[in-house]
Amino acid sequence: MTAEPASLDVVAPPAVQQRHVLDPASGLAVWLGQRGQPAWRAAAIRRWLHGRRAASFADMTDLPRDLRADLDADFRIWTTTIAVHQRADDGTEKLLLQLADGQRIECVLLRDGDRRTVCISSQVGCAMGCVFCASGIDGVIRNLTTGEIVEQLLRLAALLPADERLSHIVVMGMGEPLANLDRLLPALAEAQDPQGLGISQRRITVSTVGLPPGIDRLAAANPGYHLAVSLHAADDDLRTRLVPVNKAIGLADVMSAADRYWETSGRRLTFEYVLLGGVNDSPDHAADLARLMGHRAALVNVIPYNTVAGMPWKEPTQHARERFLDVLRDAGINVQVRRRKGARIDAACGQLRRAAAQAT
Ligand code: SAH
Repeated sequence: MTAEPASLDVVAPPAVQQRHVLDPASGLAVWLGQRGQPAWRAAAIRRWLHGRRAASFADMTDLPRDLRADLDADFRIWTTTIAVHQRADDGTEKLLLQLADGQRIECVLLRDGDRRTVCISSQVGCAMGCVFCASGIDGVIRNLTTGEIVEQLLRLAALLPADERLSHIVVMGMGEPLANLDRLLPALAEAQDPQGLGISQRRITVSTVGLPPGIDRLAAANPGYHLAVSLHAADDDLRTRLVPVNKAIGLADVMSAADRYWETSGRRLTFEYVLLGGVNDSPDHAADLARLMGHRAALVNVIPYNTVAGMPWKEPTQHARERFLDVLRDAGINVQVRRRKGARIDAACGQLRRAAAQAT
């Protein structure tokens, strides 16, 4: 079975686009040309925004004053407003951003040693319907634009002191990134600009529910990214129960697409497995997962479930979690448990948006 390509990229961003200067397709270079401005000014403006954290065109003090005023009249730097800003004791910060059309998305800054990782969203809502995830409860509303994806990066970078930079990006917020590749790829390219955020592709992780055509497209576009595939079950029956989109795809096709990505990229893959208490956390489930991994050069990232209000799923007990990990380790599987960060600020995808919507 193969996923229908039609399931990819079906949600158009809003038809009327503002001129968003953070969007590489905003027409800035052409606009500058029409005003007789040299082409390098576009790069200079981007450097101000990405590398020097300018918050307004007025901050761009080496641009002619008239040009700054014209830019201000025709372009917007920020299309979002910060609806909620939360900070946890462990240094995690989370933003709920309100988009120009009133929709809301989440993004998170995680501090871990020297690492400054941001977790960003790719869509408003999600169509994949994973039964335990807060993001998909109301389905997908729309794709984010490239500018909105870049804006999350810059909003989060602006939370850091001037001498710190973002080091890693994970596309693990709301949405299915491989269902919005047309907008995501230019945003990730922008993030790598050495004059801007300068984040190497090797420090960018794209997490997917496992859409084979999307994985192949990502490999063709840029296999330098780190791919993480959300499995959550090692057999088709259970996976289809937890990840309904699996019904039309099947684990075998997900694994072959992941293997093709690995062959093209040469980079170790990550498989994510959210442990749901009493559902997919038994030693037998672990043994099935070990068998599925086989001899693959892969890392299994075990994620204890972050409970979502109103959902029936539970965290695994500590005993179940340790037993599960022991089985994997005894089978020689590389395994890592994702430490909980920012749990108190609802830092699992989709939770803050939902909490805020329910409170208002
Ligand atoms: N759609 C992509 C990326 C977004 S979700 C994907 O499926 O990978 C990022 C990861 O968070 C996925 O592995 C997802 O299953 C997991 N996740 C979602 N809700 C969670 C929750 N409440 N607790 C723990 N992990 C969760």
